[in-house]
Amino acid sequence: MTGEERRDPLASRPPRTARPADDRAESEERPPGLLRRRKLLGRGFLVAMALLLTINVAAAVRERGGEVAAATFGMVTDGLRRVVQALPGASEVRVYRAGPVRWLANRVLGPVRIGLQVGHLDAGSQPDELAALRYSTGGHHAGLDEVSVNVAIVDALAARLRGRGAVVDVLPATVPPRYRADLVISVHLDSNPDTARSGYKSAHFWPARNPREPQLKLMIDRAVLKATRMSDDDANVSGNMFEYYAFNDRRFEHAVDRGTPALLVELGYLSNPADRRVLETPDTLATALEDGIVKYLISMGRVPAKW
Ligand SMILES: [Zn+2]
Repeated sequence: MTGEERRDPLASRPPRTARPADDRAESEERPPGLLRRRKLLGRGFLVAMALLLTINVAAAVRERGGEVAAATFGMVTDGLRRVVQALPGASEVRVYRAGPVRWLANRVLGPVRIGLQVGHLDAGSQPDELAALRYSTGGHHAGLDEVSVNVAIVDALAARLRGRGAVVDVLPATVPPRYRADLVISVHLDSNPDTARSGYKSAHFWPARNPREPQLKLMIDRAVLKATRMSDDDANVSGNMFEYYAFNDRRFEHAVDRGTPALLVELGYLSNPADRRVLETPDTLATALEDGIVKYLISMGRVPAKW
């Protein structure tokens, strides 16, 4: 598989097929534009009703106050998120341009939730299904080990995102079963006996588990490559990255839910002197990742442009 194909997975989508012949007779009776408008109106009406109902229920429940209310609100919005994802057309990246609809949807979804995985953290505690990874403790090179740098970058990034009002979950090597959030970033670093190897690379599961993953990758790649001036090491993306265990929800229970866009980043080589200078200032990388995350959320209409 070439890097070219990887970078533009949406381009390989087959063209829309023509209507079957027997369907044509019916559609000729009415103008196709009218049918489409009716279908859209119907769908919009259903979504609006569901949103209003949820807001009413949530408001009523909230009045009672307490943790029960919060839990119920979470369950309702979670349920609604699943309904919206199951709607026909949800397999496409859809950004609601109409201000009020977007505002309402974001209100229902609540604060932005972001999962940040510290690569290899507490690997020894992996569950039985991931027992083979208990000794996957990350790269080491000349006194610096991957986990401690991963921790520093994730801590700096989490503080920045919390400062913006996001809910951030810092996750170890084992993610909670079917973990759900607005997005997940798994932070890793590379190391190689060849100290000339350098650069940044990233991968979502292949094939992408949802249409938001390529969008997330694009935004994060741009931000990191621009801020760090690292080279693009995309040619070295490995099979292990494409089938990252924490995103492999078909195989493992402890994996990010397939509706949640998830990206694995390798933020340079511990073994390369130039990359190492960047890695020793974790805030540079945290700022770059923050920039990519914000741009992604804005592009999805999840947060306002000035978030
Ligand atoms: Zn790693």
